[in-house]
Amino acid sequence: MNNDLKIHLSSILKESITRVSPLHGGDISNAYRIETSNNSYFLKLNEAINAAKIFQAEVYGLQLIGETNTIKTPRVLASDTFQNSAFLLMEFIENKSPSSNDFKNLGHQLAQLHKYTSEKFGLDQDNFIGSLPQSNKPNKTWIDFYTTERLLPQLELAKQKHLLSKMECPSVQKIKDVLKSLFKDIKPALLHGDLWSGNYIISKNDVPYLIDPAAHYGHHEVDIAMTKLFGGFNEFFYDAYDSNFTRDKNTSNRIEIYQLYYLLVHLNLFGRSYYGSVSTILKKYF
Ligand code: ADP
Repeated sequence: MNNDLKIHLSSILKESITRVSPLHGGDISNAYRIETSNNSYFLKLNEAINAAKIFQAEVYGLQLIGETNTIKTPRVLASDTFQNSAFLLMEFIENKSPSSNDFKNLGHQLAQLHKYTSEKFGLDQDNFIGSLPQSNKPNKTWIDFYTTERLLPQLELAKQKHLLSKMECPSVQKIKDVLKSLFKDIKPALLHGDLWSGNYIISKNDVPYLIDPAAHYGHHEVDIAMTKLFGGFNEFFYDAYDSNFTRDKNTSNRIEIYQLYYLLVHLNLFGRSYYGSVSTILKKYF
């Protein structure tokens, strides 16, 4: 990190920086731990053209989730651009590997977050899923939202990138017909929106935190679908979560359909290794 940025961050923090250590784990940005004599901070730097927007959307999501007082998010200290780089500065959460009790708390607190509702599906701001834009344009019904703002844009992008053929992509009508048979009585719930195991942290003093959200109002099973896609959550988490919401005979089918969105995003971001999983779900339902 260059010295000018260090001076700039010190002036924001009103503390002098004693140490800067690069961290691993982020897919999108470069991450650092910043230490002063009394405190630790977490910094993300990103020079991509849309980085300031990505960070702004992340901050908005962290605030929305944090304000519910159901599950914590790290406190954001600054989000701005300096020289050629966007940066996001927040409190550093000293983390540990989760115990069964931490998983239980995470499950309960996520369920409390999902009880936060809104009139419409979507959000008053668009955001990003990974580095791809994600439209949150409000729709009245979940079928419309999930078709128009989620599946269609990713199917379209996969076609443009020659990762899926026209034949493999279902029509709008076909998608809506299938969803109609599976989506009933769904209420908007505030979602993390990208809940893989790298996007929660358990602090040293046993407090679960959500990080790096793609927040919006949607069906609560979307977050559960993402937790199940790549694993890293255990039965203590699911038992605690399920004690707050009842499953029905279509839950497991919906979960696959929600995983389809994330798999399409992975196909579009990382290429053909995700084709098999995408194709299996497309063939099974559409
Ligand atoms: P990216 O947007 O690049 O994917 P993340 O926000 O997921 O970056 O952060 C990368 C990693 O840094 C996370 O997996 C987590 O381990 C760690 N991390 C993120 N936020 C904090 C924080 N506030 N305090 C401590 N560690 C953090």
